[in-house]
Amino acid sequence: MKTSTQVVVIGGGVVGASVLYHLTKAGWTDVVLVERKELTAGSTWHAAGGMHTLNGDPNVSKLQQYTIELYKEIEAASGQDCSIHLPGGLMLADTVERLDWLKMAVARGRYLGMDLQLISVAEAKAVFPLLEEQYFLGALYDPVEGHVDPSGVTHAYAICARQAGAEVYRNTWVSALSQRADGTWDVVTDQGEIHAEHIVNAGGLWAREVGRMIGLELPVLAMEHMYLVTEDMPEVAAHNASTGHEMPMALDFSGEIYIRQEQGGMLLGTYEQACVPWSPKQTPWDFGARLLEPDLDRIAPSLEVAFAHYPAMATAGIKRVINGPFTFSPDGNPLVGPIRGIRNCWVACAVMAGLSQGGGVGLALANWMTQGEPGLDVFGMDVARYGDYATLAYTNAKVRENYSRRFRITFPNEELPAGRPLRTTPIYGRLTEANAVWGASFGLEQPLWFQAAGEPAVENVTFHRSNAFSRVADECHAVRERVGITETSNFAKYEVSGPGAETWLSSMLTNRLPAVGRIALSAMLNPAGRIEGEFSVARTATDHFFLFGSLPAEVYHSRWFMAHLPVDGSVTFRVIGLGLVGLSLAGPRSRDLLQSVTDTDLSTPSFKFMDFKRIDVGMIPAWVGRMTYSGDLGYELWVTPEHQLALYDLLKLVGQPYGLADFGLRALLSLRLEKSFGTWFREYRNIYSPLEAGIDRYLKFDHDFIGRAAVEAEQAAGGPKRRLVTFVVQPGEGAEAADVIGDEPVWHDGQVVGWITSGGYAHYVQRSVAMGYVPTELAAPSVTGFEVEIIGVRRPAQLQPEPLFDPAGRRMRQ
Ligand SMILES: Cc1cc2nc3c(=O)[nH]c(=O)nc-3n(C[C@H](O)[C@H](O)[C@H](O)COP(=O)(O)OP(=O)(O)OC[C@H]3O[C@@H](n4cnc5c(N)ncnc54)[C@H](O)[C@@H]3O)c2cc1C
Repeated sequence: MKTSTQVVVIGGGVVGASVLYHLTKAGWTDVVLVERKELTAGSTWHAAGGMHTLNGDPNVSKLQQYTIELYKEIEAASGQDCSIHLPGGLMLADTVERLDWLKMAVARGRYLGMDLQLISVAEAKAVFPLLEEQYFLGALYDPVEGHVDPSGVTHAYAICARQAGAEVYRNTWVSALSQRADGTWDVVTDQGEIHAEHIVNAGGLWAREVGRMIGLELPVLAMEHMYLVTEDMPEVAAHNASTGHEMPMALDFSGEIYIRQEQGGMLLGTYEQACVPWSPKQTPWDFGARLLEPDLDRIAPSLEVAFAHYPAMATAGIKRVINGPFTFSPDGNPLVGPIRGIRNCWVACAVMAGLSQGGGVGLALANWMTQGEPGLDVFGMDVARYGDYATLAYTNAKVRENYSRRFRITFPNEELPAGRPLRTTPIYGRLTEANAVWGASFGLEQPLWFQAAGEPAVENVTFHRSNAFSRVADECHAVRERVGITETSNFAKYEVSGPGAETWLSSMLTNRLPAVGRIALSAMLNPAGRIEGEFSVARTATDHFFLFGSLPAEVYHSRWFMAHLPVDGSVTFRVIGLGLVGLSLAGPRSRDLLQSVTDTDLSTPSFKFMDFKRIDVGMIPAWVGRMTYSGDLGYELWVTPEHQLALYDLLKLVGQPYGLADFGLRALLSLRLEKSFGTWFREYRNIYSPLEAGIDRYLKFDHDFIGRAAVEAEQAAGGPKRRLVTFVVQPGEGAEAADVIGDEPVWHDGQVVGWITSGGYAHYVQRSVAMGYVPTELAAPSVTGFEVEIIGVRRPAQLQPEPLFDPAGRRMRQ
């Protein structure tokens, strides 16, 4: 065994083996994999081997596609049989909503390069004769679905990696990890110690325990999962004989069932409602490659549906029942990437669909480790999407919710209830009294909209317009015509200070830093010149700054900042979290209202647009910035938590004569659309350059910043190849009306030319608006003939070259 190496990958399941393989492929060959028992001895050996390309996140879909395409390559290179079967797969819709969902999946597939087809029930029956037509409305057919042998795949990865120089140590248990001052690791095993530059936790069922070796509580939980395999079935033999093909795979949403051919019979697995976590607190180290006791009663409701939907299954004998544990994160997607604040520590765990996702996970992580970036948009599986709030109990609640909803639709306006409320601000009770409908982001409750008094504060979930529509319209009008107040604590807040603060921040951000007492908007780029972050930067002293950014990206952004901090201690970087909470006043009467409770002169000459000052509001000390995301006259007020309730009560009291109204996130997002303001995670992500996103105004080439050279190269090469644009869309009539959600394809001249990043109804200007990326040559105002495909219908869309509301920006500055 080596005593020193560049990387130790901990865990020899399909994921660890894929990471090892991809590291060698990326050129790092002094790498080892350490496995407690035999390869596949965790959850991999008893997996059903099924794989498919569809995922709610299009970026994860791409990685699933990559994974499936990789198998032929590793099979050929290793000589190891992976038993690749690609009979295609059906997703069977039993409700109108599910059919709509499938239409959207087909549409997304268009720009992802997937060949997905919507077919009738009769067509589905023709390829999958076991189904009973009366239960279904239609189906999606995906030719790139199938199954592999999980053990074969794992060994194929390992063989290829070994061929390139990697080493694999079986029967070697990592019992402790400790980090040296230089950031390298001592990996203690029962076969001796290995000194490594990097460690990768691919511990699967034990990823949580491996994390705990260094004080990390990763949000991972194992669930029991059952599938059964039938005896040979004559119906299957008849189909194979008449078509010469294997049965396709099928997903049956109402029964929470997946089903596929296994030799001469069928394999049927369930995501049952009565789901059960396995070893919820601690995975025993002595758990070997064994199965759990099957519990057919637990999956009986799903079996009942299966026997009705596929009658031949009811009479088939059951050959074996498998019950095994495998791991999930709270949202069901993997946890991949570097851990914030711990050098050279990487994870690749909670991969619940290792055969669909393992290749993509390995590719992304290997890119990240060898090149500093994943090279792909992997936020959907970045470990940084969870913060410290994701405790063991939170994870348990969310994973059970996710497991039992695995085949349920989550509507774009749906907020899932498990693990809530967990984080609240001091005005939570007041806003609840005001009939707020709540959502949660990064564990924090945020008001979405306000229901009329006496009506239940509940939103109908739908792909169309919900009961929130008219209420949100009223909130938008209140802001544009009078003044509104909303909670803004759902921003991430950071404090940067110290003698080196100015120089360091300047090197991190694209814009010139603001003068003391001012705010500047700025982007943060990676070396490839792609947008890593977008912030409001407020300067309160020569060496003191506040940064405001996206809350769900708090760990993501702070990880980036912390990794780039100077080592000389000249800069202090602090995540403020809920140490500062906020309220925003927006609308033409906001100044008059605020002036009535402060002695500070708020007239424009003394308190200009983008000024940032410490003022007293009533008795309450507050940092106040003159800006709002609504694009109107407005203020953001930041206070310590003990003051927020008094501030809210004061503003509500004095606000009455000004017509002050509560408004929520839905209204704010609607108002920003009519200003064509982009938002983090949608318009701004690390796959877009600032030139593509049209935030050139944030770029100042009077200072050096990360990514500058790449932007200059992009400019020198003729500018961006695609551009962010705004469309006004015809959304359909009456109950059929639907606004974009995001991820819809943009058509032009009969071709898919781009995709939508976000949109919705802009209530004040009364237009359905969509923002998205199209090729630069099509981004000219004169170009017509666009369509956006919304729930299976191509809707005419018109480019909107300037903001629909106040294009000159006078309202903000008045
Ligand atoms: C019944 C069932 C059916 C499934 N069906 C499918 C399916 O059809 N399709 C699909 O894609 N997925 C399926 N899965 C899920 C799939 O099994 C997992 O996604 C996959 O196995 C995850 O692989 P992994 O490498 O992350 O974890 P694991 O397979 O658990 O591997 C982790 C490895 O790390 C080793 N290890 C842990 N800690 C240490 C340590 N300290 N020192 C040394 N070694 C260590 C373990 O021994 C283990 O071998 C199924 C799972 C089950 C239970």
